[in-house]
This record gives sequence, structure tokens and C-alpha cells, in this order.
Amino acid sequence: MLTKIWRVDPTAGNLEENAGIQEAATYIRDGEVIAFPTETVYGLGANALSDNAVKKIYEAKGRPSDNPLIVHISDFQQAERVARSIPDAAEKLMKAFWPGPLTVIVPAADAVAKTVTAGLKTVGLRMPKHPVARALISAAGVPIAAPSANLSGKPSPTEASHVYEDMNGRIAGILDGGPAGVGVESTVVDTTQDLVTILRPGGITREQLEAVLGKVASDPALKDKKAQPKAPGMKYRHYSPKAPVELVSGGLQELKQAVARAKETGLTVGVLTTTENANVFKNLADVISVAGTRADLATVAQGLFHALRRFDHYDLDIIFSETFPAEGIGEAIMNRLNKAAGSSKNDGME
Ligand code: AMP
Ligand code: MG
Repeated sequence: MLTKIWRVDPTAGNLEENAGIQEAATYIRDGEVIAFPTETVYGLGANALSDNAVKKIYEAKGRPSDNPLIVHISDFQQAERVARSIPDAAEKLMKAFWPGPLTVIVPAADAVAKTVTAGLKTVGLRMPKHPVARALISAAGVPIAAPSANLSGKPSPTEASHVYEDMNGRIAGILDGGPAGVGVESTVVDTTQDLVTILRPGGITREQLEAVLGKVASDPALKDKKAQPKAPGMKYRHYSPKAPVELVSGGLQELKQAVARAKETGLTVGVLTTTENANVFKNLADVISVAGTRADLATVAQGLFHALRRFDHYDLDIIFSETFPAEGIGEAIMNRLNKAAGSSKNDGME
């Protein structure tokens, strides 16, 4: 399949009239798959009301069919088409954080394709903030089911070039709207329980959620690796470069020692680090990939997947990574790094 690419300036006015977005929207209505930018990562979208269209997403990604997709909408009325009902907590969160990087799990309406929910009675709903995503959804006139636009198991794409690497020839087109902003995916919260529960940490922090709702719970699987996660996708291997990733806790000295020891045994070594520490590895590691600055963890979130993907351009034996405090956006960063590192223990991929 020929994969078309449309460049779209997200700051231009009247995006719904843009020729590329119009053409992409026609492909969505015709049941094809289109990659598009959101403020978190690039998504791989299809008509959420059509089983045949949604099946093509799973095929393009190689995603296991038991892992449900998030449905993206561009206005509040669409939520009523996709959700059977909207719990009070969900409504509060939608008002506070939409458009934005928050997905609420709510009871699913019958109109939603069964392949979207993977047979669950609930559906994940999100209204993205990115102007290109919003314009595509409104121009298509249907809710769009979209996972991240990477091949299953790979780091999520934060630039159109990452999508091209994974999806060229597999989908109808890519809307290139420049780099995504937040860099990690949306926070997924279950609003169908008494206490709102974080199933996946992401762009909206626990602290932000608690400011609106008071206490929120965490899916036990986020801490206990043996527990069965409520978000099916969280059980899968993710975000993994080809070489194994090892997280080094402690601090810079420990990381330096880990790299030095691996070099002594003759290994080719990558290091995932920050602007503050990159210099330390100059004559030590074979490949240095800088995610962002420790002084502002939002930059680490933005640069994390690009930094992980870069390693695959080299032939490495092992990658060592800095670790970060798991607070604020650091919770999502550490969740993704743990998944990148824990790959071999799991049997599937997202
Ligand atoms: P991705 O599409 O790659 O951003 O991943 C979406 C995440 O949301 C996966 O971990 C899914 O398992 C999770 N998810 C989507 N829909 C539901 C749902 N109805 N219930 C629980 N988790 C969901
Ligand atoms: Mg994903």
C-alpha cells in the first residue's frame, strides 16, 4: 500500500478546510487507517464505529486483539454517542482536563465497534487538544479509535518520521504536524469504580487528578508485577529498543560504574541520560541519548521515546538508563522506563 504524507502546520487557521486533512478524513470515512499527531504521541486512527476499519489498526500494528483502543472525539456531544452513560467523576474530569491528555474509562454504547473494546463493556474516551487531531476528527464526522502509531512493542512515535519508520506501506497516510508535545501517552483512569483508579500514568499527573477529585486509587498492577492489570495493554511489553535496557538507580556514580563495567567486558553500550550528565559519558559509552533536562522533567517526557528509538540505529549489546523521581510527570516516565526494561519477563507486546 502506498502511504501518503501530508504536512500540516498546526498553527494555521481553519484546519478543517486543509486539503490534507480533508483527504485524510475521506480515508477515515472509507474505512482506512491514518496516522495523525496528538499532543501526547502520534495516533493510528480508524472509524470507531466500524469493525472492519478498526481491524486494520490491529493488523498494521501487530497488536494483540485483546488490547482495547481509546476512542478520540472532538466535541462533548460525541461522548454521548460512544458512552452508554457518563459517571459523575468522569464528567468532572472531562470538564477539568479536556481537551487534553486524559482518557476516561466509561460504560460503552452499543454503537462502538466490538474490536475497539476487545469485548469489554467499557470504553476509553479522550478529547485530544492537538489542533490537527481535532480537525481530522471533526472533518471525518465520526469518533476515531486510535492507539499509538508504533509497531507493537516499539517506543511510541513522537514525530512523523518515527511513524514512517514503523508504518510506511502499512497504512493509507500520515498527517505530519511536527513533534507531539507531551511525549508520553494519556493518563488512563477508570471512572466506573467507587474510587477513580489510575490504570496508566500519563500526561495528566496524579496530583492534578487529586486536585479535582480528592483521593484517587492506583491499579495494584502498577506496583505489583504479578497482579493482573485492569488496562489489558499494561500487561504487554512496550517501548523496547532492540538491545536490553537496564535502569540504574542510585545516582550518577552508580550509572557511570555500570557503563564502565560493561565496557570492560567488551560490550557495546548505550546510555540514556540528561543534559546535566551527558558529558560524563563522552569517552565511556558508545552511544549517548539525551532525553531532556533533569531540571524540568516535562522535557524528559517529551524526549524519552525519541531517545529510546535512537538506540535502534546502532548495534548495541546493552543500554543503561538514568532513573527519575516517580512524582508528577516522573510517574509516567518511570512507568515507561520500567516497561522498556522489563521486556523479557512478559510474553506479549502492545
Ligand atoms: P494505547 O492505545 O497504546 O495508547 O494504549 C491504550 C491503553 O488503554 C492500553 O493500555 C489499553 O489496555 C487501555 N484501555 C483502552 N480501553 C480500555 C478499557 N475499556 N478498559 C481498560 N483499559 C483500556
Ligand atoms: Mg501504545
